[in-house]
Amino acid sequence: MAEPLIALDNVVLRYGDHEALTGINLGVNAGERIAFVGANGSGKSTLLRVLHGLLAPTEGLRRESLVTPADGRPLETRGSLGRARPLRVAMLFQRPFLLRLSAEANVRVGLWFAGVRGAHARQQAAEALRRVGLATEAQRPARALSGGQQQRLALARAWALQPDVLLLDEPTASLDPTAKREVEALLAELAAQGMTLLMASHQLGEVRRFAQRVVYLERGRVLADAPVQEFFEGAVPPEARLFLKGELPW
Ligand code: ADP
Ligand code: MG
Repeated sequence: MAEPLIALDNVVLRYGDHEALTGINLGVNAGERIAFVGANGSGKSTLLRVLHGLLAPTEGLRRESLVTPADGRPLETRGSLGRARPLRVAMLFQRPFLLRLSAEANVRVGLWFAGVRGAHARQQAAEALRRVGLATEAQRPARALSGGQQQRLALARAWALQPDVLLLDEPTASLDPTAKREVEALLAELAAQGMTLLMASHQLGEVRRFAQRVVYLERGRVLADAPVQEFFEGAVPPEARLFLKGELPW
């Protein structure tokens, strides 16, 4: 079994004296599509932030593997570190944070922070906008775009960085059904490329279509971690079953 790309060992995360995550053990393998589900406040966003590295665990450890430059798979051959590069991780939020600039400039700023400049950046930005169907909107102010277009722009900004792992925090929650479908279709394309995708969601239809593996959280604990089919049809703890039946508020 290859090394996980990201692993959490006994992670606890506290905000002040509020414990948002408790005893989390989790490994994310290359190419996996994992959905994190659970009621509001169960810790999904916090877990994504810890997996990303935006938040450091209060206790326990976050590890990430070095990857091969070409395909972003975990480096298996020890002693060949000269060929390794650090893992690239990007995150998409429920509401995209966009600057008061053109769509293209928003993508370029992301690339600039990643150290990509000049003609190369122009080319990568154009390609990313084309990928998400926004080539013709490139020069429009980002904030004048529709909600669905804004989320696709945020996806282009993340995609332009060619991350190995993309984390998505309820990316379609604020979108209308048409925009939802557009974003879902793009995610399916990224999945087909083999990108590792982690998504927090409480829309079970979306989870069923998207995920291979489902992690169910309740009050900061992982109560189930199962292949998607097993999660929806098979052996899950009673709490998760209640959630599936919609008996828990969210
Ligand atoms: P979810 O994404 O599943 O709704 P969150 O990870 O946002 O859950 O929140 C988990 C718990 O941590 C909740 O009880 C929430 O109120 C609390 N929490 C989240 N962010 C903060 C913060 N910045 N400061 C204090 N408490 C927070
Ligand atoms: Mg959340």
